[in-house]
Amino acid sequence: MTDWSPSSWTTKPIKQDVVYEDTKGVQDALEKLQKLPPLVTTQEINNLKASLRDVALGKAFVLQGGDCAELFDYCNQDMIEAKVKLLLQMSLVLIWGANKPVIRIARIAGQFAKPRSSPTEVVNGVEMPSFRGDNINGFEADAASRQPDPSRLVSAYFHSAATLNYLRASLSSGLADLHSPLDWGLGHVITPSIKEQYSKIVSAVKDALRFMRTVGIDKDRGVTTADIFTSHEGLSLEYEQTLTRLLRNPIERKHTGAAAQQPTSGFYATSAHFLWIGDRTRQLDGAHVEFFRGIANPIGIKIGPSMVADDLVRLLDVVNPTKEVGKVTLISRYGAGKIAQYLPGHIAAVQASGHIPVWQCDPMHGNTQATPSGVKTRHFTDILAELRQALEIHRAAGSFLGGMHLELTGEAVTECVGGAAGLTEDGLGERYTTFCDPRLNEKQALELAFLVAGFYRE
Ligand code: PEP
Ligand code: MN
Repeated sequence: MTDWSPSSWTTKPIKQDVVYEDTKGVQDALEKLQKLPPLVTTQEINNLKASLRDVALGKAFVLQGGDCAELFDYCNQDMIEAKVKLLLQMSLVLIWGANKPVIRIARIAGQFAKPRSSPTEVVNGVEMPSFRGDNINGFEADAASRQPDPSRLVSAYFHSAATLNYLRASLSSGLADLHSPLDWGLGHVITPSIKEQYSKIVSAVKDALRFMRTVGIDKDRGVTTADIFTSHEGLSLEYEQTLTRLLRNPIERKHTGAAAQQPTSGFYATSAHFLWIGDRTRQLDGAHVEFFRGIANPIGIKIGPSMVADDLVRLLDVVNPTKEVGKVTLISRYGAGKIAQYLPGHIAAVQASGHIPVWQCDPMHGNTQATPSGVKTRHFTDILAELRQALEIHRAAGSFLGGMHLELTGEAVTECVGGAAGLTEDGLGERYTTFCDPRLNEKQALELAFLVAGFYRE
């Protein structure tokens, strides 16, 4: 790879940069991080990459979801469990609907940094630096807390580690055991019709398991646990750089089968299994693209209406010159009213280039709007409409919609309008707790999974 190193991004123009006053503090934080162990392993990253290859080829589906902005306070048992259970439930519904394996990637254990449209914002009539995410500054609306604090970078690592630890421990202790999917718990606010549909799927799964036990084939690991991979936007490059390590691929050392095709070593970003570049930081000659082109992980790129088709192909050529299938996930986020205008052209350009990415639909970020009183929200009907169009446009183009990327939470929040429970704009104030974009609540998220599963069963 030409002239790449984990720090070569520092020679390129950067967007969304954070300016610290405490430069000694930054140096200390980065030195500390550099010594800490990877949060995830190359083997796990390679496993995800292999799964995403299947998704790109239409053989599997990927469900990615979690908070827009994770806070350090979300690192607690209840919130982690609620999110994991919701992703497991949704994936079970999608497996049943699409009849394909579902790869689960959570926006968790590191989704702290947020790109902002303006460096300052007005809170209670006072202008102050914008909240950039818990790893950068504090949400509390005063000048001192909004000052970038480098010790938050180290704190981000430890909160990620604690979240990941509980996630791994829960899964290995049977949280995802298919013998008891009803124990994954449906929230008390779930509507009777969703509960009934979900129970039907669970009965079908139980029947299948009974059969497997009878014929003696229920010992498979896939029955008793599930993989949940972690992801976040790779926005804070100083942080990502310290956790990017030149690592040998442990599978290769054995020189077995498919693994022999993998490189013998590579630079792995070990803060998460999957990182993506946001819509605001994907400039071809910019720092983020420079950093991403050198890492061995599977990566995402957000693409919206401002993406020019030729530039999209150039971008793929830069980050994936060998055209590895499924290495790049294109996360499209145009909006329900714009997807028909942009997606067909983007698909055609990519098809003509010979790249085979995962195509994932993010039906959230192009559908954000403000209520007359200024509350940021998204309408369930727009979210569903963008997903439905994505599926149809891909089908018509001989391409695959490989997955969906959602902002959701296991909590009963009131941030998006609509869904079977009929949440209205007037009801948004009840439990509006997001620190950035509005998320689907557990009921809306599960309902969406059923509706998308239904698209596949039509
Ligand atoms: C996000 O995923 O929270 C986000 C900021 O998305 P985008 O880069 O697509 O605007
Ligand atoms: Mn968001």
